[in-house]
Amino acid sequence: MQKFLLIFFVLICNPSLLTAQNLQSPSDFLGYDIGTQFSRHHQVVDYFKSVADAVPNQVKLEQYGTTNERRKLMLAYVSSEENIKNLETIRENNLKNTGLLDGEPTNIDVAIVWLSYNVHGNEASSSEAAMLTLYKLLTERKDLLENTIVIIDPCLNPDGRDRYVNWYNKTASQPYDTDVQASEHNEPWPGGRPNHYLFDLNRDWAWATQVETQQRLEKYNKWMPHIHVDFHEQGPNEPYYFAPAAEPFHEIISDWQSDFQTQIGQNHAKYFDAEGWLFFTRERFDLFYPSYGDTYPTYMGSIGMTYEQGGHGISGLGILNDESHELTLVERLTHHTTTGLSTVEIASKNASKLNTEFAKFFNNSDLKYKSYVLTGNEDKINSLKTLLNKHDIQFENANSTKVSGYNYKTGQQGSFTADANSLVVHTNQPKGKMVKVLFEPNAKLTDSLTYDITAWSIPYAYGLDAYASTSKVLSSKLMERQTVQTLNDAYGYVSKWNSMNDAKFLAELLKQDFKVRFTEKPFSSNGSKFDRGSLIITKGDNKHIKDFVSKLNTVAQEFTQPLTEITSGFSQMTPDIGSPDIKLVNKQKVAVLSNEGTSSLSYGEIWHFFEQQLQYPLTSIHTDDLSETNLSKYNVLIIPNGYYGKVLNDDTMSQIKDWVSDGGKVIAIDGALRNFAGKDGFSLNYKPSESEDTDDNLISYADREREYTNNLITGAIFKTKVDNTHPMAFGYDSEYFTLKLGSSAYSLLDSGYNVAYLNDAKVYSGFAGKKALADLGDTLVFGEERMGSGSFIYFVDNTLFRSFWENGKLFFVNSVFFVNNNTFEL
Ligand SMILES: [Zn+2]
Repeated sequence: MQKFLLIFFVLICNPSLLTAQNLQSPSDFLGYDIGTQFSRHHQVVDYFKSVADAVPNQVKLEQYGTTNERRKLMLAYVSSEENIKNLETIRENNLKNTGLLDGEPTNIDVAIVWLSYNVHGNEASSSEAAMLTLYKLLTERKDLLENTIVIIDPCLNPDGRDRYVNWYNKTASQPYDTDVQASEHNEPWPGGRPNHYLFDLNRDWAWATQVETQQRLEKYNKWMPHIHVDFHEQGPNEPYYFAPAAEPFHEIISDWQSDFQTQIGQNHAKYFDAEGWLFFTRERFDLFYPSYGDTYPTYMGSIGMTYEQGGHGISGLGILNDESHELTLVERLTHHTTTGLSTVEIASKNASKLNTEFAKFFNNSDLKYKSYVLTGNEDKINSLKTLLNKHDIQFENANSTKVSGYNYKTGQQGSFTADANSLVVHTNQPKGKMVKVLFEPNAKLTDSLTYDITAWSIPYAYGLDAYASTSKVLSSKLMERQTVQTLNDAYGYVSKWNSMNDAKFLAELLKQDFKVRFTEKPFSSNGSKFDRGSLIITKGDNKHIKDFVSKLNTVAQEFTQPLTEITSGFSQMTPDIGSPDIKLVNKQKVAVLSNEGTSSLSYGEIWHFFEQQLQYPLTSIHTDDLSETNLSKYNVLIIPNGYYGKVLNDDTMSQIKDWVSDGGKVIAIDGALRNFAGKDGFSLNYKPSESEDTDDNLISYADREREYTNNLITGAIFKTKVDNTHPMAFGYDSEYFTLKLGSSAYSLLDSGYNVAYLNDAKVYSGFAGKKALADLGDTLVFGEERMGSGSFIYFVDNTLFRSFWENGKLFFVNSVFFVNNNTFEL
């Protein structure tokens, strides 16, 4: 009896113990043993809520965002009562430690560990592990929380995860079938890996094109954790992979960062060895491309790591792998839970060291380039500012001053006079190392064996003139962007045509049924000169629009689009506005192929581009339905990168050719070009290889993989020559920097327009193998060939790749609206 009274007394006086009684394990809460079913996203969220309710003094739960399909993005802050009470102070102290917040940090012995789960939706053991890790941190490993804050994101990609889980739940046998050939081990297109728009969120950290990334970065940059782990899965035959990572390492990675990865790996090894579990380190997963869940945090000062469990979408609840081992979801999540806890353990042991070393990372006084100076189109500068803001990278305007340094356009030293319209980004700022990574002309590659792109330099991607200067360029705080003038009554209005902002403006006008013209030749009117591609909106064309001037003004204000008024159709320099060289833009009906055969990434890029960027309607056609599709309902058919063996057969090809001959337009991207190259009726052809045959038989077994890199181009930047008198290139200069993603080489078109092409194949940034390079001279990059009244438009290089190559997007818009403009209504 006394015992009961004592318990009663303790509970009354200590409410945290009372609530802790309600803390349920994931298995108790879910109603099944964890790992014996896949939990849907809302169940994961509900479990986290139940834990936060049970132990509110140790778990603070926050919804930080919503996905495209309206699922919740959540963060749980897990620590001791004391730390949770001081959460905001600890966060601010950490930012003071980086210099991002002014003031001296007072308490610097709490480690901040951020665990990110399930960025790839079908690598689905992660979110299960997140639940178990949360529970174990609050029970058996409570000791670790005394000096660590663990931030858990149980699912970075809920839309992808639920796509996988819902498919698996409706497909799997009961009990599950371990036979690899069973349909439950064969996910349908597009699989659960990507998000709603089929983007790979683990390639999106630096470009932040997706809502999941954008919302996450807001929180990430407010916290700046010391350790960040991104949990993944690889094929079912692979053992576990953890840090230290593989070469190449980007040169800004500090000795501390790479040494501590080794300590972490050794701590994990202790647990894996005790159980006899297999693992590998220092192979395959490198640290170079800045847009991953390991590199991005690393370049932000963290110890950023990828952990890979064998499993993936193929494995379901259980699969018999090639080594006749039955790999189960239970085993997969147990491994991820082990490394998660081991990571927190090593962080806790080194909390104070983590803080001091973290602070050192943010000293950027000795970087080679002190300032990057960028000039060019105001819209492009603005879109770059938007990107920099996503990363809390500071920028200013240049003072009127001469700048000497590396000229990105020429690839040589040069100088120019900067003015207040030039953007300056200094490297001596807290995010200076990320500035270097994103802006430097050519990232130093210590090893060519990387399987992602090796170049991304921002000035090329944004189409801006830029100089990298080794001395600090004078600059001052930014001026606000100017607003545009209210429109007066006039004969017509002319808009420039250089940027995606201009393209969005056009798309909006077309959607509102404005009649818009574009010029194929430069002209001048009212003392102003207008380039090819300029848009002309006349009062005469738009009599059907009531309150035309006021409506146009509303759109112009919304898009901050400056318009020049013209008073007459008579131009000082022809063409006149009524000339056949100034054509009506047709309100194009655009279709795109989707599903089996298309690359889901490429299709997703096009889908996202039309829906979220251009904001112009797009009809998606299932490849299975192509032969039954009435193409005459569309003006444009986009064929994404993909493999179209069965889809583009003789029948569908002749259907497409007939439709093009009648005036249709095909836009084909990257791998889709294979369906036309060398085929009857097409002048598109592969370029025969010129590289000398080396005696491949004599290359040793050990050197084969490395030798193979000679044939590779893994995302490198080249300068192309551009025929900017062709409508596909309106708004561009006579040179354009392209991101080449592969070594496919097509000859220049004999009968057709070579709109952009490589002359000499000089690499401006990134890696290109010598054999691949030898074949790239005089090859096509973008082109058009006519067939009857219509056109085939070729994108050898995919300008929408991961949606970050801003300067390539207008080629795409031009292809849709300007190229071979037939101005026929449907
Ligand atoms: Zn993954």
